[in-house]
Amino acid sequence: RAKAEGGGTFRCFEPEMDAWVQARRRRENELREALAREQFSLVYQPLMSAQADRILAFEALLRWHHPEHGPVSPAEFVPLAEETGLIVPIGAWVMQTAFAEAAAWPEAIRLAVNLSPVQFRNRSLVETVRDALAASGLDPRRLELEITESVLLADSAANLATLHALRAMGIRIAMDDFGTGYSSLSYLRSFPFDKIKLDRSFVSQVGENTHCTAIVRAVASLGTSLGIATTAEGVETAEQLAMLRAEGYDEVQGFLFSRPVPAPAARQLIARAVDGFFGGRAA
Ligand code: C2E
Ligand code: MG
Ligand code: MG
Ligand code: MG
Repeated sequence: RAKAEGGGTFRCFEPEMDAWVQARRRRENELREALAREQFSLVYQPLMSAQADRILAFEALLRWHHPEHGPVSPAEFVPLAEETGLIVPIGAWVMQTAFAEAAAWPEAIRLAVNLSPVQFRNRSLVETVRDALAASGLDPRRLELEITESVLLADSAANLATLHALRAMGIRIAMDDFGTGYSSLSYLRSFPFDKIKLDRSFVSQVGENTHCTAIVRAVASLGTSLGIATTAEGVETAEQLAMLRAEGYDEVQGFLFSRPVPAPAARQLIARAVDGFFGGRAA
């Protein structure tokens, strides 16, 4: 952190830096042991049809239950897991666990899993996915892998080949957090994505900020023109839902419908959705 303030001030922060480095090292060791100590779990958040009357899929989201600090957000530990390479074994665990869970859901319901660019750097990604599919019995056509544009930024030729190999297995590839990167548009040209997930930051201001509204609209028409399905993440209000539906989004996801929930609660949502639970709520 001191570095960011310029080389000249670096020395003044040495004691603080030291404490920071030590805390980081501690956190790193804890993360290293977290898998063996079974401190990770997955929660599942539904992706709804735009009419909000059906669950189309669940996105698996990782949680770390730290023995002292309690739940730690993936926003906090995924970057560290990426820097240390630990995201590779953790990511394999995510897939094994989520695939096994999803294999027990009704066939019409898909599973979405997030992949880090670091998982692509590892040559065995396709094999890891294939093994986890075989072990769980999950149909690859029910699987969606969410990536961000950073996957295509780094080592793009090798990563593109990996994406094509995954897609050839019947897996869908979604571009997550669409619109937040530097050149989301140009990446649409380099790979035939199956889905665009518009980032929450645009959804949260739709109808309030004219620029956001324009972007929300433009992404919907981009999806239509390119034949790519569109999802809006982070939907929190009925007003947002109404606008997204009017703009023609295919899928919606957000706290309005459900927070990410543990596997048993996800199964309950599936059972309740059959009884029209969401239909009643979204009307
Ligand atoms: P993401 O894939 O874009 O996931 C969406 C995040 O937004 C999730 O945060 C979710 O809980 C949150 N969210 C969903 N709906 C709403 C809403 O209506 N309002 C608000 N305020 N937030 C909402 P979460 O679970 O903390 O995950 C953060 C990020 O961590 C994810 O962003 C994803 O990039 C990463 N991540 C999570 N699980 C995994 C994993 O298994 N592997 C990898 N590589 N990354 C993961
Ligand atoms: Mg995601
Ligand atoms: Mg997202
Ligand atoms: Mg996002």
